[in-house]
Amino acid sequence: MYTLAKEVLSKYYGYADFRPGQDVIIKSILNKQNTLGIMPTGGGKSICYQIPAVLFQGVTLVISPLISLMKDQVDSLQNVGIAATYFNSSLSHHEVAQRLEETKQGVYQLIYVAPERLEVASFRHLLQTLPVSMVAIDEAHCISQWGHDFRPSYLRIKEVIESLPTKPVIAALTATATEQVKRDICHLLHIAPQQAFVTGFARENLSFSVLKDEERRPFIERYIQQNKENSGIIYAATRKEVDQLHHYFQKKGVSVGKYHAGLSEEERRSSQNAFIHDDILVMIATNAFGMGINKTNVRYVIHYNVPKNIEAYYQEAGRAGRDGELSECLLFFSARDVQLQKFFIDQGQSEEERKANEYKKLQLMTDYCHTEQCLQRFIIEYFGDQTTTDCGTCSNCTDDREMSDITVDAQMVFSCIKRMKNRYGKTLVAHTLHGSRAKKVQELKLHQLSTYGLMNKRSQKEILQLIDYLTAEGYLSLSDGQYPVLLLSHKAIAVLKGEERVMRKQAQQPIQAVSERN
Ligand code: ADP
Repeated sequence: MYTLAKEVLSKYYGYADFRPGQDVIIKSILNKQNTLGIMPTGGGKSICYQIPAVLFQGVTLVISPLISLMKDQVDSLQNVGIAATYFNSSLSHHEVAQRLEETKQGVYQLIYVAPERLEVASFRHLLQTLPVSMVAIDEAHCISQWGHDFRPSYLRIKEVIESLPTKPVIAALTATATEQVKRDICHLLHIAPQQAFVTGFARENLSFSVLKDEERRPFIERYIQQNKENSGIIYAATRKEVDQLHHYFQKKGVSVGKYHAGLSEEERRSSQNAFIHDDILVMIATNAFGMGINKTNVRYVIHYNVPKNIEAYYQEAGRAGRDGELSECLLFFSARDVQLQKFFIDQGQSEEERKANEYKKLQLMTDYCHTEQCLQRFIIEYFGDQTTTDCGTCSNCTDDREMSDITVDAQMVFSCIKRMKNRYGKTLVAHTLHGSRAKKVQELKLHQLSTYGLMNKRSQKEILQLIDYLTAEGYLSLSDGQYPVLLLSHKAIAVLKGEERVMRKQAQQPIQAVSERN
């Protein structure tokens, strides 16, 4: 059956190979197992159910919430010679009647419907008479109340499937990968956890770097100079920052455009077109830029500020190298940016529970900046995708400084946190270890602790960096909220007991961009 699947892939779609992940999902569906496929946007989810639909006897019902996309999908299937049709509210009575009749006659292999259609009596009646072999559910996260796009009509899907005389296999697909949503989909659609595949998040042609000790503007100026022939995007957190950067680089004679929601529609359109047609090579923008822009030869994406979470970062950084050519994603870290993102969360309208979740995601974004593991792997694991190898090209993989044993330093930090009874944030912990004379330290009587001044040979900044590193590597965790408290994890306890050692690359040195390293 699987060999047939490859034949369908090349015969109808003209592709030689499956993308990573498509094969496992297709195999699972062909084995008649209810399956969940989680893949990023553009990863190639449609083929995962379309190929089994071609191979199965009978008809596949595809449930999709996006009426505009439905027509595109059906058109492209028809173009390659796969019989498909759709039912939605854009059709006239006459068209619906005709398609119903054709469906009854077995003309179609796939029929696309919006979930609301499942509530229409005549359609439900039709379903009773059809040999439905598979139900494919696109945007399957809409079934979960934890998803960002919950649709009550999705909850009816299960009941409709159960009412069918055939026992169709279920193929659910989505790009939303949080553990909660995944569990919910599996539970609601009777999908065994081992048939849920998170896959395709790796982008092998992208090399990631985090830059910590660089002066941002001169660095970017040099970088653009070294990449004169290439297009790139520079993302900044606010409109004001975009305006300032744009002004700065324009004065320096660099060909730059800008884009943010504060510009008129005309300004935005002309700037976007100039970038797409390579009239300007560098676009400075807020996150308003990029959705639905299909420019494949973006060679680099620079984040001037730390974004709010890894989803946002990966989506924006992922606009580099869509053509598969090697491309770079650089991120400048600054603690002030993290504060700014905290401020945005705090000022936002979200409920407390959602805010706590946003703080948590921001912390993981911060951990990404401080980890010494492979950056690509960190991101992929964040999405729940399994990978076994390091990318070999990110700023951590190419950082060839020696590892050294920092167990004693780590123990000092951990015992100080313990003495401070897990009640304070990282600044106060660093103050205490450094032996600071800050008023707050005196007021809280932290100077009376035995760990006060234990690291007085180190600067406050070095101690803070060490704490960030220990957090990123999972020795410390932070409580929820805007002013989080440092907590010891079980890994730290093991270190305190002398059961485990802590390693770190030697003293920080500025990391060079990949182009400078070569
Ligand atoms: P998604 O639904 O996950 O956003 P699509 O199914 O629309 O993604 O696929 C994105 C693009 O990738 C489409 O142009 C599709 O033709 C292409 N594609 C899918 N699978 C393959 C493959 N195995 N080889 C090459 N291109 C593929």
